[in-house]
Amino acid sequence: MNKNDIIDFREAILKWYDRHRRVLPWRALPGQTPDPYHVWLSEIMLQQTTVPAVIPYFLKFLNKWPDVKSLAAADPQDIMNEWAGLGYYARARNLLKCAITITNNHNGEFPQTQTELKKLPGIGDYTSAAITSIAFNNPATVVDGNVERVMARYFHITEKLPQSKPTLKSLAHDLSNNQTHRPGDYAQALMDLGATICTPKSPLCSLCPINQTCQGYKHGRPETLPARAEKTSKPKKSGYVYIIKNNQSEILLHKRPAKGLLGGMLGLPTTDWTPEKPEHVDFLQAAEINREAIHHSFTHFDLTLTICTMTKANITPPSNDYIWQPIENFESKTLPTVFRKAFVLNQKQ
Ligand code: SF4
Repeated sequence: MNKNDIIDFREAILKWYDRHRRVLPWRALPGQTPDPYHVWLSEIMLQQTTVPAVIPYFLKFLNKWPDVKSLAAADPQDIMNEWAGLGYYARARNLLKCAITITNNHNGEFPQTQTELKKLPGIGDYTSAAITSIAFNNPATVVDGNVERVMARYFHITEKLPQSKPTLKSLAHDLSNNQTHRPGDYAQALMDLGATICTPKSPLCSLCPINQTCQGYKHGRPETLPARAEKTSKPKKSGYVYIIKNNQSEILLHKRPAKGLLGGMLGLPTTDWTPEKPEHVDFLQAAEINREAIHHSFTHFDLTLTICTMTKANITPPSNDYIWQPIENFESKTLPTVFRKAFVLNQKQ
């Protein structure tokens, strides 16, 4: 594309955005100045997670911790509890580390450049580009799944994902590079176009502001792009999960090790999750194995957990990582989804 084509493309997208932008709780309305804390918090939550799933979590966090300094002062376990159900828990750990770094080393102000932002915990290429452009209106190439899809279709790139990622990023870069006219709005406009018009299964090409020059539309069947490599099936793992209650109407919870899957989260006691038949947790050998099991899909494996129960348990857990929690204070929504599923299924029996 030559310089004029790029200007026309951007103008068409921005004009469309001015009429059709999504209203999102973290997004500044026209004429308002974006709040970097809102932009950062939402972008961390949106990594690997959909907008509808993020909205209630974003509002809950903002209500509890209205700025970066209050978040930096939060009890880590409180943050993990509030994050429960959103998945990818390393994000919650990095959220706190990042808030503390900004509070202590940057006087509570977010750095404005991509280079400085990338030095912060949990902020990589994509998130730094999104924050610098959306919060500070600096030119940057923001490429999420929506933008990849628009690029693949607009330029009719038939190479399969993930191999085509560098090409798609480079095309997006050509369109955004050094463009100083409303870079934040342009980044959001392209994402909105992908989310609402150039949708994965049924793109609304007749309503699209760039359909006159879109190569994918011209070739027909743009919904087949971007092409993807065949998915291989995930490995399977299994284990036991324990719902243990004692005479004092308490339930046994386990604080998971800080590192690893669901690190630092409070969950139900469970065995290791392995491809072979699991060994019981030693001090819970007496639990009754139920017929019920839950299935949960993680990014890299599918898990089946068989539920084991014990009531009126008279046991002494082997470490302080196990906590007896009064059942009347216990809310299963504070558990990661995999444990919540087990608890809810057991409640129904
Ligand atoms: S014309 Fe259709 S395929 Fe092309 S960018 Fe617009 S919605 Fe997507």
